[in-house]
Amino acid sequence: MSTASAYLTVGDLGVDVVYKDIKNLHISVYPPVGRVRVAAPTRTDEDTIRLAIVQRMPWIKRQREQLQNADRQTERQMVSGETHYVWGQRYLLDVSRTSGNHRVEAKGSTLWVMAPMGADAESRRATLDRWYRRELKAAIPALLEKWQPIIGVTADKIVVRRMKTKWGTCIAQARTIWLNPELAKKNPRCLEYIVVHELTHLLERGHGERFVGLMDQFLPDWRARRDELNDAPLAEEDWP
Ligand SMILES: [Zn+2]
Repeated sequence: MSTASAYLTVGDLGVDVVYKDIKNLHISVYPPVGRVRVAAPTRTDEDTIRLAIVQRMPWIKRQREQLQNADRQTERQMVSGETHYVWGQRYLLDVSRTSGNHRVEAKGSTLWVMAPMGADAESRRATLDRWYRRELKAAIPALLEKWQPIIGVTADKIVVRRMKTKWGTCIAQARTIWLNPELAKKNPRCLEYIVVHELTHLLERGHGERFVGLMDQFLPDWRARRDELNDAPLAEEDWP
């Protein structure tokens, strides 16, 4: 049995397609950013897949909205003992120390978020968010240095920007890449995959055969890295 995969863009929705030896087409929406993945029987033509996505669009949108609401509800309370992830490692939050300045330190398995006496959860959350952005920004230069010569492109600007439904995006005309600060919570392999993916868009805008071929050439295990980012599915639906 062989599996092949492809990317499709339907409207403004990016869709991962995996061909498998199965009978029915499945559509899944994955947290945390609402990535859409289709598992399709081998040899399903692209039009059939597009039609399935278009017809299921209201359902997909609903799942993505729920995901965003759930995201808000499960927002951390920023109390000691909570689990937080940094570069794929699990840490337990400790907010018991105060400091004159807002400060974050990941040490052992403890994530210290220090704030002035009396700081509320909201200001601690903002401190931690800023720290994640700095972590991500600090990781980017080495990746660009490594990958730009290999891919043969240069990005003019990298922007760390919170996005509800994307890990990264490439604005090819402006040679600008946006990266989601949430990437600093994931294994660094995942950030590398997104950087390579977005840089590759400077060579090829779409997600077609040429793009997949380039990704296979640059980063042969990109599928595993993508799957690692996508975690467990939030929702699945069979088609038809
Ligand atoms: Zn892309």
